Amino acid sequence: MLKKLWLLLLFCFTGIYLDAAPLTILNTTDFHGHADGNDRGILKVARLIEQQRQRGPAGTILLIDCGDTIQGTFSSTVFQGRLMLKCLNYLDYDVWVPGNHDFDYGLKVLGQRLREFRGAALAANLDCPYLTGVCGSWKLFTRNGIKIAVIGLTRPGMSSVLIPGPIFRTLAFDAALKRIMPEIRAARPDMIILAQHQGRYGRDFSVYQLAARYPEIDLILGGHTHLDEPGRKIGPNTWYFQAGKHARGLGRIEIEYDRKRRRIIKISSEIIPVTAAAAADEKLSELIRPELQRAEKLGRREIAMAVFKNTAQLDSGLLEQHIIARMMLAETGADIAVCAAYPTKYKLDGAVPVTLKRLYYWSRYNDTVCTLVPDKAAYVQVIAEQRKALRKDCRMVIVYAGKDPFKTRDRAVIAFNSYALTGGGGKFPFLRSIAANRRHGLKNTGIIIRDGLKRYLAGKLLLVTGKPDGQIAVERQSRAAEKAVVR
Ligand SMILES: [Zn+2]
Repeated sequence: MLKKLWLLLLFCFTGIYLDAAPLTILNTTDFHGHADGNDRGILKVARLIEQQRQRGPAGTILLIDCGDTIQGTFSSTVFQGRLMLKCLNYLDYDVWVPGNHDFDYGLKVLGQRLREFRGAALAANLDCPYLTGVCGSWKLFTRNGIKIAVIGLTRPGMSSVLIPGPIFRTLAFDAALKRIMPEIRAARPDMIILAQHQGRYGRDFSVYQLAARYPEIDLILGGHTHLDEPGRKIGPNTWYFQAGKHARGLGRIEIEYDRKRRRIIKISSEIIPVTAAAAADEKLSELIRPELQRAEKLGRREIAMAVFKNTAQLDSGLLEQHIIARMMLAETGADIAVCAAYPTKYKLDGAVPVTLKRLYYWSRYNDTVCTLVPDKAAYVQVIAEQRKALRKDCRMVIVYAGKDPFKTRDRAVIAFNSYALTGGGGKFPFLRSIAANRRHGLKNTGIIIRDGLKRYLAGKLLLVTGKPDGQIAVERQSRAAEKAVVR
């Protein structure tokens, strides 16, 4: 009897008696609408997903996307993201965590996309009565006999309060986890995965602190910062992984799980690259071909001609924002327009046909044109805040309709986009507070910048000239003048 007990103890403590089960987590993030990439794109990721499914035993795979999925390309925007949802559903994604840009088309559209999604849409830190019942917080999955709780968290610090219509805000991760962790613990999962639309660091956020506070989280899948993070240990029990961007790879996390002792024995991960030579998924390609063809045709539609002179040395982002600022002044009658220009890799010089697709890349967000009427002191502080908070390589574009209005008046009408006014993703708290204060007369025209540009440019010849003093002149003429300028 004693001998038997001894043997049993030996069995249990020497690790001979393991109930090891394999588990594969497949992960993507920040697709940003890349359904139409010629060299990369979701069609090729799809093929990799299918290959992984064929390789592993059935019922051992969980497929998760960490967001910023439906915005970022012309073809995805034409269909307000429906095209990408078709892909997610075809590939049988288990979880989709909406990212900040998935809110770009507005809550109504996001609600439609979330309803279309056949897996579980999860964002535990989303506070939005309008989307109650459409987007969950966490979900329990069983794969290979292992109970896995998956929590979704979208980008914290977002808010729509200033835009008319249904409202939302997103909470800090800690506040959301405090609320849901008791339910999750009560469900006694074997493993916890946190799928977040956030990188390892954010404003007032570190994934290391999170892993220390919630050591029961086994795996964190990141996003948003567009970085390749093929896997690293970030706490005694926690692994961090991030699958890059733009459908350039498929994340694979291989786990060996001991079902008896209820713990991970081994974890490893990699980003399987999508190469230019990789094959696309034929069936999915067939499925979305009509949409891609329609978008392609629409994208070629020319709405104006632009001629850029003496601009070869100037960043095209700067030129585009000058055009946008002029449009905002024309649409609103404002005294000043304020925009931010990020550097781009291409040049705008000479005669350039302005197609719908080009316009999309001049303004790929669905921000609207708004105005504020601040006094001079508030305006000066707003500009100072922007100069301080904007990325080093970002240039501010401030265009006056006429003379400096503050020379003769204490208040002036200033045009901004809705993204800046809602705080620029947390960067401009002062501007947001000014916009929220009724004294400063916030008006949202509801005009999406791209639509404003379309109207401003339709049938026109646009002349953009770099001046020797560094100024950029933007003029509109009728297209009758075109022949004289475009040779
Ligand atoms: Zn993002």
